[in-house]
Amino acid sequence: MMYDCIIVGAGIAGATAARRLAEEKNKKVLVIERRNHVGGNCYDRPDEHGILIHEYGPHIFHTDDEGVREFLSRFTKWYDFGHEVVAKVGDQLIPVPFNLNTLHMVYDSEKADRLEQKLIAEYGEGSRVPIMQLQKNPDPDVREIADYVYKNVFLYYTMKQWGQKPEEISPEVTGRVPVVISGDNRYFKDKYQSVPLQGFTPMFEEMLKHPNIEVRTNTDCRTLLQFEDGKIYFEGEEFGGTLIYTGAIDELFECRFGRLPYRSLEFKFEHYDQDSFQGHSVVNYTVSEDYTRITEFKFLTGQKDTDGTTIVKEYPFAYTGAEGEIPYYAILEEKNEQLYEKYRSLTEQYSNFHLLGRLAEYKYYNIDAMCRRAMDLVGEIK
Ligand code: FAD
Ligand code: UDP
Repeated sequence: MMYDCIIVGAGIAGATAARRLAEEKNKKVLVIERRNHVGGNCYDRPDEHGILIHEYGPHIFHTDDEGVREFLSRFTKWYDFGHEVVAKVGDQLIPVPFNLNTLHMVYDSEKADRLEQKLIAEYGEGSRVPIMQLQKNPDPDVREIADYVYKNVFLYYTMKQWGQKPEEISPEVTGRVPVVISGDNRYFKDKYQSVPLQGFTPMFEEMLKHPNIEVRTNTDCRTLLQFEDGKIYFEGEEFGGTLIYTGAIDELFECRFGRLPYRSLEFKFEHYDQDSFQGHSVVNYTVSEDYTRITEFKFLTGQKDTDGTTIVKEYPFAYTGAEGEIPYYAILEEKNEQLYEKYRSLTEQYSNFHLLGRLAEYKYYNIDAMCRRAMDLVGEIK
């Protein structure tokens, strides 16, 4: 096959772009993926006990975007649920995001009633207030709640996850988990909250199954692509088609300006011959332990045909680029964004070269936003 488009990476960004180019634009597409599987970080598989696990951390597809939902629904049926998270604080498991139910668990009923009225009067029922904003409220009662949430939900967890205090990281990040002025215990507010019924990997396989798409796994793009003097070479020959790159941009240019900083995670999986480990899909450890959270997969995927249970603990650390490490989170800071910009400007000399994805764009994308961005990008490609 002679390719019109080459896409590096078979995560949600690459797979969505591939399908849309193949289908809508009738392009011949090659997808190059260095892992031995498709799906990127959404990849899941059965472990040796037959329990469906998410290899790169728990993933829930949540969206309000009808177009994205509709597109992905062509490749899977869904297991829909309202995703809930609790935090272990002392002996209690409290709902996160902190909401009015949480308020009633941590204060006596008289005080909780009074504080609830105050929060509603101040922010309005149903509103979602970032912790950094709540802390600025002049009312001592509201600040008492903010102090509680800061100390018991954000401080230690954020220190573990980012190696920095909540006030030192981008407010966009802590703002993802606001204080919720309602009795809604769900982690996300989106209309759709689901995992693919048979798992993410079959959904990706289905998406990439198209006569115009060829996928090469176990292949690092750097073995096939060269960038020289404003020209792109594929297998030694000049490539005049469209290239979409979804990997880390510093790696593509040999880290010549230094490495872009990322946070990484180590996942430790444990299996137990018991029906349940924690009775919840996700428990956040916000005041204790070295790991940030424990996910018990059967409660996330709805899997019923198993007696045992598998969990995963997440241990964050600073990515160094060492063999085997995976860059998971861009660190949204001015100086990192400037460094990113230096790399990005290197790509300007190549026409029809697009950066797409959480690594390539050095951004914090959810699955749905990534899928939307890939669909929009393909819409712009001739
Ligand atoms: P990726 O999934 O990382 O895919 C990029 C692919 O490119 C990878 O497969 C990689 O191997 C490949 N690649 C890189 N370099 C090369 C190369 N040189 N040659 C060939 N291939 C290469 N989002 C949600 O919406 N809900 C969630 O619950 C959720 N949970 C998350 C939990 C964790 C722990 C993390 C880290 C993220 C989570 N996300 C979640 C975000 C979600 O993972 C991303 O939105 C999504 O993976 C982005 O897709 P992508 O295609 O940009 O990147
Ligand atoms: N966070 C926290 N405690 C929690 C949940 C979240 O401190 O119990 C903070 C933390 O800094 C985290 C950020 O809020 O990185 C965003 O959380 P989210 O769950 O959205 O992160 P994800 O793992 O999805 O990237």
